[in-house]
Amino acid sequence: MGRVTSLDELPLRDDLRGLTPYGAPQVPLPVALNVNENTHAVPEAVVADILDDVAIALSDVNRYPDREFTELREAFATYLGHNLRAEQIWAGNGSNEVLQHILQAFAGPGRSVFGFAPTYSMYPLIAQGTGAAWIAGTREDDYTITPEDAAAQVAAADPDVVLLCTPNNPTGTPLGLDVIEAVYDAARGVVVVDEAYQEFAPREAASALSLLPGRARLAVSRTMSKAFAFAGGRVGYLAADPTFIDALRLVRLPYHLSALTQAAATAALRNSSTMLAMVDEIVEQRDRISATLQALGYAPHPSWSNFVLFGGVDDPQELWRALYDRGVLIRDVGIPGHLRVTAGTEAETTAFLEALASIGSPA
Ligand SMILES: *Cc1c(COP(=O)(O)O)cnc(C)c1O
Repeated sequence: MGRVTSLDELPLRDDLRGLTPYGAPQVPLPVALNVNENTHAVPEAVVADILDDVAIALSDVNRYPDREFTELREAFATYLGHNLRAEQIWAGNGSNEVLQHILQAFAGPGRSVFGFAPTYSMYPLIAQGTGAAWIAGTREDDYTITPEDAAAQVAAADPDVVLLCTPNNPTGTPLGLDVIEAVYDAARGVVVVDEAYQEFAPREAASALSLLPGRARLAVSRTMSKAFAFAGGRVGYLAADPTFIDALRLVRLPYHLSALTQAAATAALRNSSTMLAMVDEIVEQRDRISATLQALGYAPHPSWSNFVLFGGVDDPQELWRALYDRGVLIRDVGIPGHLRVTAGTEAETTAFLEALASIGSPA
C-alpha cells in the first residue's frame, strides 16, 4: 500500500513540525569514516565469549530481564574506577538514550538545554524531542572556551540542563576541568559532561569523573559505541550521585535494557582490555591524518578524539562528493569550509589520504 498522507496532514505536535530527523547517510561504501565508529572488528575470541553469555540469557528470555541491570552496573563501576559504586551508575540503549532520560527528567516542556556550539548534532534533537528549548552558546575561533566566558554564558542563559561535550564532537576539542567546574558553579541546573571520546584522549588527561564527589547536579556520560567497538550493541552509561540516578528511574521504561543487551555488554566489559586494544592504533592513525592534511595544505583542528575536523576546504559538498565517488565516505558537519573524517584502520586511513591527495590540494 502506498503512502496515504503527508506529515503536514497528521495531528503532529506543533513543536515537531518542520524538523528533520538525524540522518547521517548509511551507504555501503568500501571505506566508511563518517560516524566515528571504531572500524576494527571485534576479535573472534571475544565474539565467542559474548555469544556464550547471550546463549545463556536466551534460555531465560521468556522472563523480563533484571530491571536494575545490577551485574552490568557493577561492571561499569569497576571499569570506570574513581571509587565509583554500582548505585552511581546508569545505562541505556546508547548514550543517546541516557541523555534522553536526563532531559526527560530535568528538561522537558517549558525548560531549556544549553551547549557550546558547534557541538554534537543530537543535543538539539533530543532536547526538541522532549519538548525543551535548545540554547546554543559560542566558542572561540579555535573552538576552545575559557572558564570565565563559559561561566558568563551559562549564567546569562540560566538553562535547566548544560551539555558539555569533551573531547567535543565534531571539533575534537577538549575542555579543561577548570571550565567544567566554572560552569557547574555558574549553573542552577544539572551539568552533563559527555565523555564519549575520553578513551582517545592522552592517558594522563583527567576525566570529569574526578569532579563527581560533592557535586549532586553533575553527571558524566560515556558510551561503548566508540573506543569499545560496540556501536551496534547500543550501550551507553553514566556516573553520578545515587539521587541523580533515582531521578532517571522516574522516566525510563521498565526493562529498557534487554536481557540480551545486558549479557552482551557485561561479557564485552569482561574483555575490555582486548576490546580497547585498538585505541592506541586509532590514535596513531588520527595523528597521521592531521599531519598529512597539514602537509596537503588543509587546516586540521587539534583532536583528542578518534576523528579530525579540517578546514581550508573551498567547497565541502564538492570534496565530500569527490571522495564518495572514490569509495570513501566522510562527514559534512555543516561548518562552512570544513569536513570531518574518522580515523580508521591503517588501510582505511591510507585509502582516505590517497583519495584526497589524488583530488588535489586546496587553492
Ligand atoms: C557518538 C556519540 C555518542 C554516542 O552515542 P551512542 O548512542 O552511545 O551510540 C554520544 N555523544 C557524542 C558526542 C557522540 O559523538
